[in-house]
Amino acid sequence: MTHPAQPKASHFINGEYVEDTAGTPIPVIYAATGEQIATVHAATPAIVEQALSTAKAAQKEWAKMTGTERGRILRRAADIMRERNRDLSVLETYDTGKPLQETLVADATSGADALEYFGGLAASLTGEHIPLGEDWVYTKREALGLCVGIGAWNYPTQIACWKGAPALACGNSMVFKPSETTPLCALKVAEILIEAGAPAGVFNVVQGMGEVGGALVTDPRVDKVSLTGSVPTGKKVYAAAAAGMKHVTMELGGKSPLIIFDDADIDNAVGGAINGNFYSSGQVCSNGTRVFVQKGIKEKFLARLAERTGNAILGDPMDEATSFGPMVTENQMNIVLGYIEKGKEEGARVICGGARADMDGYYIQPTVFADVTDEMTIAREEIFGPVMSVLDFETEEEVVARANDTEFGLSAGVFTKDFTRAHRVIGNLEAGSCFINSYNDAPVEAPFGGVKASGVGRENSKEAIKHFSQVKSVYVRMGDVEAAF
Ligand code: NDP
Repeated sequence: MTHPAQPKASHFINGEYVEDTAGTPIPVIYAATGEQIATVHAATPAIVEQALSTAKAAQKEWAKMTGTERGRILRRAADIMRERNRDLSVLETYDTGKPLQETLVADATSGADALEYFGGLAASLTGEHIPLGEDWVYTKREALGLCVGIGAWNYPTQIACWKGAPALACGNSMVFKPSETTPLCALKVAEILIEAGAPAGVFNVVQGMGEVGGALVTDPRVDKVSLTGSVPTGKKVYAAAAAGMKHVTMELGGKSPLIIFDDADIDNAVGGAINGNFYSSGQVCSNGTRVFVQKGIKEKFLARLAERTGNAILGDPMDEATSFGPMVTENQMNIVLGYIEKGKEEGARVICGGARADMDGYYIQPTVFADVTDEMTIAREEIFGPVMSVLDFETEEEVVARANDTEFGLSAGVFTKDFTRAHRVIGNLEAGSCFINSYNDAPVEAPFGGVKASGVGRENSKEAIKHFSQVKSVYVRMGDVEAAF
């Protein structure tokens, strides 16, 4: 019998499901059991062509609609997503293995927020009037054209909406390629947009590995590429886009610092460290995986952290009591276990966890290392799993320098009751998305994105509009034209 997660077909193009079984089969594995629950096929060159030509043709008409009309469709899609939150959350759990306890509140809901927010902004995208005596200049905010979205596997619904909603609000069309690991959820987003009234071809989904992503990025009809992925992939995609002088948004990896001063509320700081390391089993780009704790509170912090981490409930992700799920794939689990071994070899102290969990599926125990030093591999490389590194520090100046000593710059957080210090420290940290006495909140109203190797551009908020549109300026002369001859 077909599993309920099996989609009707692999791709969604021009308002309908499309199949081409000549493409490489991609098995969809449920991470909690290792069972294959669905199969999709990578896009063949014919499918890629169909998606791009459809999206190119659909964009012109879409851009001609008023912002109010486009916005209404996006807001209707948001309502449908909210009505179907439970079904979409179950699918997200099948796609990623993340517990339903999380997916019910963080995925379709966040996608709906983006559709609602950008739907609301669509009608407000205007230019300005610049008076120049009798003459004047007016500006228009125009769509870029055909945009490509490429997603990572940790938030397949959210990433499709975070890219699709602002792109569509500005009058662009999109071809979206999900990660081959989590191909299911974006198809539902495409289906819902059509149901909400989006013209066929405005938002399309094609499946495939990096090769398909590469074909999309290099196509001359594509005007913009928005990628969520790792830094090495980002460098390749950015270079390929630059060759065609395309616009880019790069949402890449991180190794973000979370700094806890000795005057911090310990329980709030522990809560921030847990949210910033163990949500989605640590598979979150903005995680504060280098937790710098001021020496005076170190042992108290570690004791409370170990106690609360011990309350994590590992189990069936479909059981709403489960608060900690498996790694997305066996491969990702093995990569993370490799980092845990490295941490032990290099002399870090295991406070809790430190091994695969003794159960079916790709579960790793939430792991905390103490006595981590700046040179250790676990303090330098993005692990993308439930591995927290706790480092000691003494002074503010020292911790800021150490926190910034990385190629990454996605996020940063500080816990302290001293507000002057909090703002000073955040001001000195090289990161795009920062937190004071909190960690990992990502409301659609706030810009999200990194500096340094962690990315280019911003998602969410009014900032995202700038990255999915361009300004045309028009000089209007009222008098005669003077010319030299
Ligand atoms: P990858 O970089 O491996 O892949 C990202 C996407 O790019 C996938 O869809 C992948 O396809 C595709 N891809 C790979 N190579 C190319 C290429 N040459 N041209 C075009 N597309 C290509 O990332 P992961 O999927 O492993 O996701 C984890 C990473 O994503 C982490 O580094 C994490 O920090 C980052 N991330 C960043 C976020 C942010 O907003 N800053 C949010 C979430 C994650 P396929 O995998 O199917 O081969």
